[in-house]
Amino acid sequence: MASAEPNGTTGPPDGPVPPTGHPSLTDPVVVIGAGPAGLTAARLLAGAGDPVVVVEADDVVGGISRTVERDGWRFDIGGHRFFTKVRPVEEFWHQVLPPEDFLLRPRMSRIYYDGKFYDYPIKLGNALSNLGLVEAFLCGLSFLWVRIHPPKDMSTLEGYIVSNYGWRLYRHFFKTYNEKLWAVSASEISADWGAQRIKGMSLWNAVWEPIRTSVAGRRRDPSKQVTSLIEEFEYPKFGPGMMWERCADQVEARGGILRMETAATAVHVENGAAVAVTVASGGREERIGVSHVISSMPLTALARIVEPPVPAEVLAAAGDLHYRDFLTVALVVPEERGFPDNWIYIHSPEVKVGRIQNFGVWSPYLVKDGRTCLGMEYFVFEGDELWTCTDDELVTLATKELAAIGLVEASDVEAGYVVRMPKAYPVYDDVYRDNVQVIRRWFEENAPNVHPVGRNGMHKYNNQDHSMYTAMLTVENIHGAHHDIWAVNVEEEYHETTDGRSAVSESRPPSGPSGPGPGPSGPGPSGPSGPSAGTRTPPTGDGRPTGTGRDAPIIPRSAPRLVSPTARPGGADRARNVSG
Ligand SMILES: Cc1cc2nc3c(=O)[nH]c(=O)nc-3n(C[C@H](O)[C@H](O)[C@H](O)COP(=O)(O)OP(=O)(O)OC[C@H]3O[C@@H](n4cnc5c(N)ncnc54)[C@H](O)[C@@H]3O)c2cc1C
Repeated sequence: MASAEPNGTTGPPDGPVPPTGHPSLTDPVVVIGAGPAGLTAARLLAGAGDPVVVVEADDVVGGISRTVERDGWRFDIGGHRFFTKVRPVEEFWHQVLPPEDFLLRPRMSRIYYDGKFYDYPIKLGNALSNLGLVEAFLCGLSFLWVRIHPPKDMSTLEGYIVSNYGWRLYRHFFKTYNEKLWAVSASEISADWGAQRIKGMSLWNAVWEPIRTSVAGRRRDPSKQVTSLIEEFEYPKFGPGMMWERCADQVEARGGILRMETAATAVHVENGAAVAVTVASGGREERIGVSHVISSMPLTALARIVEPPVPAEVLAAAGDLHYRDFLTVALVVPEERGFPDNWIYIHSPEVKVGRIQNFGVWSPYLVKDGRTCLGMEYFVFEGDELWTCTDDELVTLATKELAAIGLVEASDVEAGYVVRMPKAYPVYDDVYRDNVQVIRRWFEENAPNVHPVGRNGMHKYNNQDHSMYTAMLTVENIHGAHHDIWAVNVEEEYHETTDGRSAVSESRPPSGPSGPGPGPSGPGPSGPSGPSAGTRTPPTGDGRPTGTGRDAPIIPRSAPRLVSPTARPGGADRARNVSG
């Protein structure tokens, strides 16, 4: 049994994939999607000598972790920090790119609110001087007040944050951004997410951590770091896309086949297993026989392309998974008009922009000619008012908002580019877990050689490391291991128990009414003979679902939306559409 602890030794990713004695694969493994999950799986398979074909619907690799290039400017879909507590993932990154291609970046990010910049994580001195003595005093009182009179409803995100920071700081620093991101009020969201996302942070931590760091230095052990407070991270000098472009080259160098602008349009299932995948490219379709399918395409879309079609209840579950979408407007401005932050959170309610990246600060190799690119980020629903604006309208809006914030004069903006990213955030609502479970079970019972991996592939709101680690363990499963991919947690330890059951450590966020974490609970019955056959049990054996590392809030279906999506999110099946 392969060791599978995130901090343990899975063996060098490119080395021999664990001892298996599995029969060599004659038909290829078809990997759907050339994002981090798909390319990680493909590189490992190709490195082990397995036949592998990667199909990617888009014309660039990297998925959401791509780097977009326009007229020589390069920018991310949101800035992508490379930070992980999972050693095999970190080793993989460093096997793909040599040390000279990595930059170690100090993190700087602030909150913009009410015309002022606040350090983030919040620092006492800076917050006090920005707030002014009177408001700071009132915030202090408000913090003391909640010590004596905690919020009535502690089960909501609002209640959770207020109890840690007080009402006034909550209004200054949390309320608006959360509303922009999720389009619902924090009083509608369960406390679980706050516990996870702001885990380890409190007013005390925010004050103590900078003092501790200045005396004792930065924490060297990544596992001891509170993710929200990480102060430095690695970054490929030409952006995250560089990692995946290089990885794609290495897949091909190891004998793997990569087919770009090729979409998987059908997964054919016969006698309890997937036997072929139909792919479409340039108007032509082709059927490829498969030994396994590793799918990082959205789970909702995967369920819909099964042939013969899955039962109606599985289709209904697939159609009932939703997403928050994302668009960024990259504005070119003179370098001196930029700011020193990697990104700024925009809490000001008078503008729609939620966050602004300064790509020149992420890496000087992304920009040129004494200019920088500011990425104005908008959280949207595919088809809503902002999504359907023309690119020119979006550039005009972003320019106006940049000027309204007082950061850059409108006349300083020299050019603008729009990038739309559908399905950027898988939405967790009150029924998503059941929906995922229905789809997952169907595959486990009817086509256990189809392996969903990655972010949208498993409908898990997670970073690259989670996507990659699910892919790594899936490759080990194909070679005979029995990891429960759905139990992978990149924040907590994932243990392989001796009897083949997986478990995560017991440290978990406190549970609110919606359950302690977002992961689909419980085991799916395994097929009798496929690679996923073996013991699958709930990670802790007690039937409770587990988190997976990074979590998103559970958005109740009944919560009033603060913006109205004009198109149902999650409706489109098409692959990513980057326009500009
Ligand atoms: C705003 C934002 C900021 C982020 N910041 C960070 C960060 O700082 N650090 C970090 O580690 N992570 C970050 N992430 C998360 C990271 O982007 C994802 O975790 C990662 O890209 C997921 O990889 P994946 O391979 O699972 O999926 P994806 O990146 O979604 O890749 C899936 C691929 O499948 C392809 N595909 C879809 N359908 C088909 C089909 N039918 N046929 C063929 N191909 C298909 C898609 O075109 C795509 O290329 C961020 C995400 C967002 C939205």
